[in-house]
Amino acid sequence: DAITAADLENLAVLGHGNGGTVYKVRHKTTSATYALKIIHSNADATTRRRAFAESSILRRATDCPRVVRFHGCFEKPSGDVAIVMEYMDGGSLETALTTSGTFSEKRLAAVARDILEGLACLHARNIAHRDIKPANILVNSQGEVKIADFGVSKLMCRALEACKSYVGTCAYMSPERFDPEASGGNYNGFAADIWSLGLTLFELYVGHFPFLETGQRPDWATLICAICYGDPPSLPETASAEFRSFVESCLKKESGDRWTAAQLLTHPFVCKDPETH
Ligand code: ATP
Ligand code: MG
Repeated sequence: DAITAADLENLAVLGHGNGGTVYKVRHKTTSATYALKIIHSNADATTRRRAFAESSILRRATDCPRVVRFHGCFEKPSGDVAIVMEYMDGGSLETALTTSGTFSEKRLAAVARDILEGLACLHARNIAHRDIKPANILVNSQGEVKIADFGVSKLMCRALEACKSYVGTCAYMSPERFDPEASGGNYNGFAADIWSLGLTLFELYVGHFPFLETGQRPDWATLICAICYGDPPSLPETASAEFRSFVESCLKKESGDRWTAAQLLTHPFVCKDPETH
């Protein structure tokens, strides 16, 4: 049965974001615990459309491994949209970094493998997450690592839509228009997720965002210049050759040179026996 607002009671606030609040909630009859993301729309049609888009992408991705499970979506009388999801009791990797400090390579290899399994599944379903960062990767006490927050995710199906609506010209479309994995054109959403994964692992290893010094406040113009015109950041000497090579494969400036999630799953950093790390 579909979960409704009346079935749930609020237990705590888990986090705030752009236009949304996430609560820990309890199902009154089953006692199950969920996370409830409320997207405050103020009855604005665009915000509501985006909230429903987020919900439908999460629903489409929910049986991917390493993606938070979707349990339903409902609309409040106020026009706010609520998404019911699996509760991750360990919080985000951003919180883990603040409370427990930087991650070991062994832990990062396991985290990288989990995120890659999630991304490989999402990308195979034409979903680009587009907001991979420590705050959007959640953990639970069973040691599971999952991708959350599909608020800016996108279904990269423009070529397929074009194909459906212009049957006559479809045959003349170039291969990359059908193959969203191909780089170039408008289809860089998947490669962009890999770049973000590289920066995420980098940050969890050094303890701060790669392009900034510890505690430095971002000056956006300088930061954007460094990202667009500078060399990709490289890990300190303390990192192993495998880890450096893995991060380099994610942080290729040219999106077409970046490895795909499926390729990275075969990289020695993530596929070698975890005992030997
Ligand atoms: P957007 O970027 O679309 O504005 P947001 O950042 O407001 O989204 P989320 O990232 O989905 O929203 O959630 C915000 C915070 O709430 C997360 O960083 C995390 O701490 C917590 N949170 C979200 N979902 C869950 C969950 N399923 N279980 C536990 N905590 C969660
Ligand atoms: Mg978020």
